[in-house]
Amino acid sequence: MSRLDAFINRMTSQRACLNHAAEKTAHMSGPVFELGLGNGRTYHHMVEIMPGRDIYVFERAVASHPESTPPDDMLILGDVNETLPQALERFGPTASLIHADLGGHNPEKNDAFARAVSPLIEPLLAKGGLMVASDRMYFDNLKELDLPPGAVPNSCFIYG
Ligand code: SAM
Repeated sequence: MSRLDAFINRMTSQRACLNHAAEKTAHMSGPVFELGLGNGRTYHHMVEIMPGRDIYVFERAVASHPESTPPDDMLILGDVNETLPQALERFGPTASLIHADLGGHNPEKNDAFARAVSPLIEPLLAKGGLMVASDRMYFDNLKELDLPPGAVPNSCFIYG
């Protein structure tokens, strides 16, 4: 598969999975977490599809498009290895939707990182909440769910 096809699959799948997860959790009052701001494209989409919901962004170094930069009070700056445990103390198991897109270009490194952060993410999700990830995650109790129409298998994952 060309890198262009893989990129298109990832973008298409992120949108389909985020739209699906936003709709399925619309009745929940807990915060939404965006892990990895990057350019801010998925954050911008999440703001658009989830008006009125609190979206906290976890990022170690903000370098986003100006239109996709969260307000200071919704930004949790630092390495997720440190900020996710702090978030558990602050929010408890209340997140209605968590989206993680923390990876780079190296699949082996992405997989190792996903293994390391999975136990830090799992306790943050509220009962009935959904977790959307660009990489396969390694949870003890959350189960991998079917993808919505339009998402490409292995380009995105949903857990709940
Ligand atoms: N979803 C974003 C978008 O649509 O523009 C792209 C996210 S980009 C692929 C990954 C982001 O995760 C980068 O901005 C990187 O700085 C961040 N990141 C990677 N590892 C991190 C870590 N350990 N702690 C905090 N942020 C991290």
